[in-house]
Amino acid sequence: MHFFLSHWAWLVMALPLFCACSSHPAKTIENLKNMVASEQNAAVRYRAFSIQAREEGFHNIANLLVAIARSEEIHAEYQRKVLAEYGEDVSMPVDSVPEVGSTLENLKNSLRVEEYESQTVFPIFMQVAANERMSEAEQFFQWVAAVANRHAEYCRKALGKLEKEGDDRNVVNSWSVCPRCGCPYTTVSLDEACDVCQMEASAFFLFQQ
Ligand SMILES: [Zn+2]
Repeated sequence: MHFFLSHWAWLVMALPLFCACSSHPAKTIENLKNMVASEQNAAVRYRAFSIQAREEGFHNIANLLVAIARSEEIHAEYQRKVLAEYGEDVSMPVDSVPEVGSTLENLKNSLRVEEYESQTVFPIFMQVAANERMSEAEQFFQWVAAVANRHAEYCRKALGKLEKEGDDRNVVNSWSVCPRCGCPYTTVSLDEACDVCQMEASAFFLFQQ
């Protein structure tokens, strides 16, 4: 986890090198490439956390973590699509074995990462994409900042229940994930649409016990 944070910190420090007069969106492409690796690793990490939660008997939290893993995969898939359009190599192997602690520790670490991404990393990437006039990527970074904020909110709530009650019986057990922006929802009606990207809810992925 510490590696993850220092990895992002390096990226943020590198951003001022961006040249606004460039016609090639070099920094945004670099940011997308780094994000593919990061989001792939996040998906692997959340799936490992989900297995751990299930082993501890926390099946509702396990379902939440699987939904968040799918969310991260959707982001990586989108990034690969955009990078391919620019002729970039998108074959990036997952390069880390996740550190898995107790579910309590895993939720705390996830909360810290999601807050950092939503409040610091993605808003900067969004501004860089705007400066490079890469409007599709700008919108995408806006979406992933909102989605990371939602991940943080759900991790915070699950963590609160676990700390207070010692189990996850009051954590929601049914989750939906928007296939366009990856936003997870606790409950969703087929009449509704994603409030981040307006995708129709009938297309959502469903995760439940
Ligand atoms: Zn959406």
